[in-house]
Amino acid sequence: MPRARTTHVKAVVLAKTALGEKDLILTMLADDGSQRRAVAKGARKPGARLAGRCDIFCEVDALVAKGRSLDVIAEAELLDAHASLKLDPDRMMAASAICDVARATCYEDAADAYLHPICRRALSACEQACDVSHLDLCVAAYVWKVMAHSGWYPQLDTCVSCGEEGVSRFSAALGGVQCESCAGEAEGAVPLSGDQLSWLKHLLRAPFDELLADDVDPSMARWLAGITHEWASAHLDARLRALEFMLGL
Ligand SMILES: [Zn+2]
Repeated sequence: MPRARTTHVKAVVLAKTALGEKDLILTMLADDGSQRRAVAKGARKPGARLAGRCDIFCEVDALVAKGRSLDVIAEAELLDAHASLKLDPDRMMAASAICDVARATCYEDAADAYLHPICRRALSACEQACDVSHLDLCVAAYVWKVMAHSGWYPQLDTCVSCGEEGVSRFSAALGGVQCESCAGEAEGAVPLSGDQLSWLKHLLRAPFDELLADDVDPSMARWLAGITHEWASAHLDARLRALEFMLGL
């Protein structure tokens, strides 16, 4: 019998699914930006050595063996558990929303060096956020940045329909801002104030350090989280349950 091939994979655990009574299937974002799925055998048994290292949000260095259908995690070293995310329901919800979008924007065998560092940064930003409004900002910034990187860059300067500069609406379906007269003909375009437009541009551009230190009105932060859900659900082929739960949808 040929020896099993094993490789080290540094990854963030994005999701876990029960497999039988004792095992878990982990969905991970590897440090090359690809999605990896692997079985953690025995990880559901109480006190199992792997259990604490195979939880959502954990950054691990896993030794992964090629399996017949699914890869198998032989060992895992915990690099960062992001433990404080699990101690606070608001942080937990925000981090879960980030992991849902991370899962929907990474693919097997598709390396992308942008994805792993920004996911790690967004999770640690959720640990640092001083209040719920800043958690909203962290989630919104992560989703807009990753989606823009992945090809869903919103058009925010001129009307998506006619190219006019005076814009007052946002249409997730059409991919950006619209002027008043074009928006009248389109379904689902929401009103957009100058402040809201400035914030959208800021989310795309500003690093997390800056966003964490920003003054933001709670209603603006919530609006940004809401429009983030509209943008993501219009373009990603996935149900974003954690983001919906966070927004009370
Ligand atoms: Zn127009």
